[in-house]
Amino acid sequence: MDLGIAGRRALVCAASKGLGRGCAEALAHEGVDVTILARTEADVARAAADIGTAAGRPVRWLACDITTPDGRAAALAACPDPDILVTNAGGPPPGDFREWDRAAWIRALDANMLTPIELIRATIDGMMARRFGRVLNITSSAVKAPIDILGLSNGARSGLTGFVAGIARKVARQGVTINNLLPGNFDTDRLRGTMAGRAKAQGKDVATVEAAMRDAIPVGRFGVPAEFGALCAFLCSAHAGYIVGQNFLIDGGVFPGTF
Ligand code: NAD
Repeated sequence: MDLGIAGRRALVCAASKGLGRGCAEALAHEGVDVTILARTEADVARAAADIGTAAGRPVRWLACDITTPDGRAAALAACPDPDILVTNAGGPPPGDFREWDRAAWIRALDANMLTPIELIRATIDGMMARRFGRVLNITSSAVKAPIDILGLSNGARSGLTGFVAGIARKVARQGVTINNLLPGNFDTDRLRGTMAGRAKAQGKDVATVEAAMRDAIPVGRFGVPAEFGALCAFLCSAHAGYIVGQNFLIDGGVFPGTF
């Protein structure tokens, strides 16, 4: 299937590895003019080179912290007027809610709620004027079913989800769609950090926790970034213009609800 987005411009945040990288790879493969960012210059430069080689087209990159105003300004200077925006940043640390003071909450809200909102604010009018836009926010299955040790994530991402539900309906008539991708357990560094946090909280070793988590997934394995990227690319495609304000759970069947 031709996704109909070759030549479109995409800004993919937090994409030197993991889920963001999976999205960047899938979009580059479709002929999209992709710009990726992450904080560490060597890592993001290498990722861009590798993705570009595999896709047979150059991938632009910059090193910045997307959770800061300067980082967002640099990202939008490197990729002005994107047609496709994939928002993403590192997730907040696990822990007990008693440990989190106001500063910890502000950091989580900045990274996982206010940063995507600021990026949407900066790009949405241009998308509407050009009558095509795709915004995908990488959130978490925690929005649908909270994860006990990830309270900062549960809270911040739910705030973003509520905001997006409203705004998505206001921009759709101009050909702009905003949707959220909700990863379950994907085999990335982030998952390994979460497993270590869970092992500590439960007084178990990481291998035991990993086996239990894998066992609880109906497909019997963790997800891989390429399958996350494939869904991202479809939702960014020319065929996805009637999909508005939705939350796509991609979790191997973990969430047990009928809907
Ligand atoms: P990862 O650790 O594999 O990759 C994170 C990427 O983000 C890296 O490229 C890193 O350099 C970059 N990054 C982190 N903070 C940044 C910042 N402030 N500015 C710019 N770049 C930054 O993580 P992942 O598994 O790909 O997770 C991506 C997001 O999805 C995270 O918010 C995570 O909490 C969430 N999530 C992941 C899973 C999972 O199973 N992997 C599940 C639910 C939610």
